[in-house]
Amino acid sequence: PRLHVAHDLFAGANLPLDRAQANYLLNVLRRQPDDPVLLFNGRHGEWRASLVPSGRKSAHLTVVDQARTQTVAPDLHYLFAPLKSARLDYLAQKAVEMGAGTIRPVLTRYTQGERLNTDRLHANMIEAAEQCGILAVPTLMEAARLPAALADLAPERLLVFCDEDAPIADPVAALRAAADPSVPVPLAVLIGPEGGFAPEERAAILARPNAVALSLGPRILRADTAMVAALALVQAVLGD
Ligand code: SAM
Repeated sequence: PRLHVAHDLFAGANLPLDRAQANYLLNVLRRQPDDPVLLFNGRHGEWRASLVPSGRKSAHLTVVDQARTQTVAPDLHYLFAPLKSARLDYLAQKAVEMGAGTIRPVLTRYTQGERLNTDRLHANMIEAAEQCGILAVPTLMEAARLPAALADLAPERLLVFCDEDAPIADPVAALRAAADPSVPVPLAVLIGPEGGFAPEERAAILARPNAVALSLGPRILRADTAMVAALALVQAVLGD
């Protein structure tokens, strides 16, 4: 298993496990003392650790050696309009699995999500990072209204605006027309709420100089479906 820890990681470090983590390793995964556990903290790469039980539901980890050196998060921003909480968990996890390096909730006129629980969002991102094997935990930016979120994007960052009202065209050709795939370009992918963008919001997005409206086909996708499709497509065509 892979565990994200807050502690510094170095050979010989002894890391306490809370009861839930100890129980998970000892009794759910039934790890034996010499089964390596992989640890990462987002700063020091990934380390192998050995499990040292001290009771039926208590144990600590002793860090042994480094398995992988630290990597940087992909320079891909994912901007999304919050959804209802259960789907938000899904969205946070899939954005991490699909390679977003920065995730930002964007508040729009038709955003339906209740008050954002950022701790819950971040916990889902950590869980996804543990599961999908990445070392750099993506950054969760504070929520912003659409104009501020657009203004915060560096001008050179290409904004891929997933627009169900865009002419249905070949998305690969549209992306290739917007950026030269042979030159790494900082990217942002923007997906709207279940109720879509308001007309003035669409106008503001399309007015941004470095933006491309991307159709994901003739069907109206749920926002979380569109996110997976868009992140997969954008990285396949323009990813570094
Ligand atoms: N306007 C939609 C409707 O009529 O139901 C509501 C928005 S849709 C459920 C949620 C978001 O997913 C949209 O704002 C857009 O960003 C993205 N999306 C959905 N289908 C898409 C498509 N075919 N092409 C591009 N983006 C799409």
